[in-house]
Amino acid sequence: MTLILPRFSMGIGDRFAHQGKAQLAAFVRARQLGVDVAPVWNKSNREHNIVHSEPPAVRAEADAATKALGWTAPYFVDADHIGIKTVDRFVDTADFFTLDVADFIAKPAAEDDIRAFVAAHAKYAGSLRVPGIDAALDVTPARIESIARKYLFAVQEAGRIYRHVAAKKGEGRFVPEVSMDETDQPQTPIELLFILAAIAAERIPVQTIAPKFTGRFNKGVDYVGDVRQFEREFNDDLCVIAFAVKEFGLPANLKLSVHSGSDKFSIYPVMRKAVRKHGAGLHLKTAGTTWLEELIGLASAGREGLAIARDVYAQALGRFDELTAPYATVIDVDRSKLPGASDVAAWTGDQYVSALRHDPSNPAYNPSFRQLLHVAFKVAAQMESRYTDALKRFESVVAQNVTENIYDRHLKPVFVDKD
Ligand SMILES: [Zn+2]
Repeated sequence: MTLILPRFSMGIGDRFAHQGKAQLAAFVRARQLGVDVAPVWNKSNREHNIVHSEPPAVRAEADAATKALGWTAPYFVDADHIGIKTVDRFVDTADFFTLDVADFIAKPAAEDDIRAFVAAHAKYAGSLRVPGIDAALDVTPARIESIARKYLFAVQEAGRIYRHVAAKKGEGRFVPEVSMDETDQPQTPIELLFILAAIAAERIPVQTIAPKFTGRFNKGVDYVGDVRQFEREFNDDLCVIAFAVKEFGLPANLKLSVHSGSDKFSIYPVMRKAVRKHGAGLHLKTAGTTWLEELIGLASAGREGLAIARDVYAQALGRFDELTAPYATVIDVDRSKLPGASDVAAWTGDQYVSALRHDPSNPAYNPSFRQLLHVAFKVAAQMESRYTDALKRFESVVAQNVTENIYDRHLKPVFVDKD
């Protein structure tokens, strides 16, 4: 029996593996309202390396949380952004694999393979009509060839990773996602169409595809870009996927995966509307916001909690270049907007929370402060038990913030709200 990812799913990250139950509580709330969203606990290889955790810990956390809350609906554990070199440590315990081939875009495939791909898809040249898209797509043999030159090798790499995992786990025992989001240039709907053609030819039973969308998807802050252009592209992508499923025989539940970098509030209503209009599915991946809610909970708890929150910031400021460098393409921190460490050392818990919590209506909200802390989880990891003991000591206030964040700011606007 093939493992099937349900129509709606949401990826949740938990850097320190203490918030599984608090995260799941948000999904329980949605379910009580009749909205089924499958939780997918995701953690990348890079994250494991930074916090010195191992993939089986994510499985243990997910199993424990679902057991504790009596969750009987599907849930998954995602080996997030893995490649052929990093996948092995995930194979036993993950059942969702994000095959990240962004680094292989524009690498040359064999000339014979490119020729064969162009010939096999020549019938789509001319003005191609995709149901749901008003204008015909302008597809020419030259266009197909240039798409093959840019993406065929990357899709072949996804095939290599897929087969590597399938050989160990067995076909159908895991959900494959193909991701190309961590790159500079967005993929157009036409490119997506032929990427899916290549994925089908490579015989990857892909259930979610994560393209790079137009606009900036910075970590933990709102979308920056033209919302109407995003809306057009997103709608077109949904139509392309429905077309590709029929045309290329891809799995019927294939859906878009939005690697949002979390908190893309201004495009959430657009996504909700489009998904409903097209009867489509959606995977929404978030990652670092739970860790920020831990800081918010600690800061509002006061005492040692607030001391830790201030200390994390002071150290993050002192290690600015080291912490931000790996994320340079996905954060926009304005250093002139960062408060000094001595200012923050004098802040109350409320001041800290107001600056950090993603509430655009609060004038004290500071996106630069938030983004720096978003990438500063390494600092907390290095505090070791000082940090994790505080998570335990202040569990209830932290958990409340974690649950509310996932429910109120993500699940509700994307999956629950009525128009
Ligand atoms: Zn991603």
